Amino acid sequence: MMTLRETAVLHNGVKMPVFGLGVYKIPDEQQGVEAIVHAIKTGYRLIDTASLYDNEQTVGEAVRQSGVDRADIFVTSKVWNTDQGYEATLTAFDTTLDKLGFDYLDLYLIHWPMPKTDKFKDTWRALEKLYQDKKVRAIGVSNFNINHLEDLKTTATILPMVNQVECHPHLNQQTLRDYCETNGIKVQAWSPLKRGDLFEVDTLTQIAKAHQKTVAQVMLRWDYQHGILTIPKSVNKGRIEENANIFDFVLSEAEMNQIDALHNGDRTGPDPEELNI
Ligand code: NAD
Repeated sequence: MMTLRETAVLHNGVKMPVFGLGVYKIPDEQQGVEAIVHAIKTGYRLIDTASLYDNEQTVGEAVRQSGVDRADIFVTSKVWNTDQGYEATLTAFDTTLDKLGFDYLDLYLIHWPMPKTDKFKDTWRALEKLYQDKKVRAIGVSNFNINHLEDLKTTATILPMVNQVECHPHLNQQTLRDYCETNGIKVQAWSPLKRGDLFEVDTLTQIAKAHQKTVAQVMLRWDYQHGILTIPKSVNKGRIEENANIFDFVLSEAEMNQIDALHNGDRTGPDPEELNI
């Protein structure tokens, strides 16, 4: 049986857990440390933070308190929009590492493309430098559409290893996922539960009932069976365990197709084309 320890192999050979904990909107340090330590004890091996979340210190502290080796935990952070550009990104990365209290990071992402500011290619050069200097094991992007990735390709010497995007049954990112697969880029879903918005959808409640699982587990299993890496967020210990308990059932092809058919393009977050500040 597959477990929480399962990894995907990035195009540079680095192994990245397919499942992890998102920590957006956990401002309270004590609550954050407790939730993250609990997740690690449950078996989670990936924590997704960002400088925007203002909890990188909490993540570093939780990793140290967990009793698991730093090397066995995969930590992602992201450069925020106001730090884009070559020099500013290098400085922002040092601050991130300081806050985490680490001497390297596992994955560093450009948080948003901000296409109208035309800075992501310079920002990417900084990520390439950090990667070449071995300060980060893998580099990638977040919220990049195909046109942004095509633009990045014109100057990049290393292609992104990961693209973290909003992805759930209402926004299944099929075209972008196909493009990323062709280009060796792993897709990771943010808001994989659409922040709770789909828990009453009939198709999902029926499938959940048939498997004696929760809708959250069905949605996360759908990610897993599609090869989408996923990072549900919770600070609730029971839900942290529940979300990870997806390795003991299988959705049929018909059920996968039913969930795919829920796509309607609806987002919970901003459109990457529109966010430019
Ligand atoms: P999510 O879809 O993971 O939903 C989280 C919310 O769902 C929780 O706050 C909780 O209220 C509820 N929940 C979680 N598990 C549940 C369960 N089992 N039963 C009932 N309710 C449950 O949304 P998210 O936090 O937006 O996304 C996950 C992570 O993705 C974030 O924490 C963050 O790390 C990352 N993220 C990245 C970006 C980006 O731009 N790159 C944007 C948003 C989020």
